[in-house]
Amino acid sequence: MSAPTLLALASHVALRHPDDYPAGTCVAWMDAADRVCGKPATYLCARHEKAARARVEKAVERENARRAKAQAAAPARRVALAAELEEVEARLNRIDPLRRESTTDGAVVNTPLATRLPSDSRIAELAQLHERRERLARDLAAVSA
Ligand SMILES: [Zn+2]
Repeated sequence: MSAPTLLALASHVALRHPDDYPAGTCVAWMDAADRVCGKPATYLCARHEKAARARVEKAVERENARRAKAQAAAPARRVALAAELEEVEARLNRIDPLRRESTTDGAVVNTPLATRLPSDSRIAELAQLHERRERLARDLAAVSA
């Protein structure tokens, strides 16, 4: 990560955008004193520049820890997602008429149309399953990346 500019640092300790404050003053909000620092400085006085750097460092550490944790959990998550996706695919193969007709014998075509049309609740389930399958495939691709 490149070193943050003073303006970027200032945004970590100022309440509003640093350029909203009078130019040439420290924009850091001091919670204990309940006021803006205001010392002559380009965005931040030395003390608040140090505070802002510490805050940014902590944020970077937190982000790295979060990333490491996600990486450690990735293999288990991949397995769980793949298993769930397999379940959804199996269910779709059983109930999706578009999938069934190509895999089962052609005699089913001779049954009356009314009995071959899926019910409303079946159509709703199919829509949910297709949505879930897409989401799972997307999540699986993300966790495998
Ligand atoms: Zn200051």
